[in-house]
Amino acid sequence: MFYEHTIELFKKRGVQLEEIAEIVYNLQQPYHPGLTLDECLESVQTVLKKREVQHAVITGVSLDQLAEQKILPEPFQTIMELDEPLYGVDEVLALSIINVYGTIGLTSFGYLDKNKQGVLTRLNNHDEEIHVFLDDIIAGIAAAAAARIAHKYPNIERYFTDRKRDRHGSN
Ligand code: MG
Repeated sequence: MFYEHTIELFKKRGVQLEEIAEIVYNLQQPYHPGLTLDECLESVQTVLKKREVQHAVITGVSLDQLAEQKILPEPFQTIMELDEPLYGVDEVLALSIINVYGTIGLTSFGYLDKNKQGVLTRLNNHDEEIHVFLDDIIAGIAAAAAARIAHKYPNIERYFTDRKRDRHGSN
């Protein structure tokens, strides 16, 4: 029941699951050439069936909607309208999505935060709509769905470990 509601919320906010699947595809396809968009969409749908993920979507989108209606108490209302850069609770909420599939998702989430693409770019370029939470939620879902696919292919898992080492110099 929450699953349908979650998909309905995305529709209401102008986001198609196919757009999230495209991000997953871009993240994983270079390392698994046989990967299809359908496989990515299926992974997104599986992630959305997790109760923790549904709770994150419902919570975050509700806060975005209340901010658009300008009915949040101050200073929260202003923080949301400005998308205050030091406010990090939106990212922390998205971590509850990624945690379901382990640390590989965390690497992709950090990458998407720096390299916004597709639907993420669109959500960030709105003046009237507020998507403070939704952009991180979508990045979290895409990262989790990509991690699910990576877990199926041990070589890709190694790739992520290597890339993490490249970026941080250790670990
Ligand atoms: Mg955000």
